[in-house]
Amino acid sequence: MADLSKRRAALEARLQELKARLLQIDEELDSHSSKDWEELAVEREEDEVLEGMGLSAQAEIRMIKAALRRMDEDEYGYCVDCGDKITEERLDILPYTPFCQVCAAKHA
Ligand SMILES: [Zn+2]
Repeated sequence: MADLSKRRAALEARLQELKARLLQIDEELDSHSSKDWEELAVEREEDEVLEGMGLSAQAEIRMIKAALRRMDEDEYGYCVDCGDKITEERLDILPYTPFCQVCAAKHA
């Protein structure tokens, strides 16, 4: 794959972005320590949203790390399920996907 280093750079940039976001979310959650009852209720709702964002960021981080590992092992771009080559078009949209289109549909 000719542009593997470009893909790696993009994945690593995205990884840094997500880590920065997780830090922000943690700080935001930590800052929610006011004692006012009504404020707490509002903040609890915000916390749930923040935690949801945190979870999806963590899930994406795991996918990206796994993709970077597959790059190290020269397996990047091949479906972990059936071994078929994943199309460049699909990798453009989902650079960290471990599945080809057919298998992704099966797992969905
Ligand atoms: Zn597959």
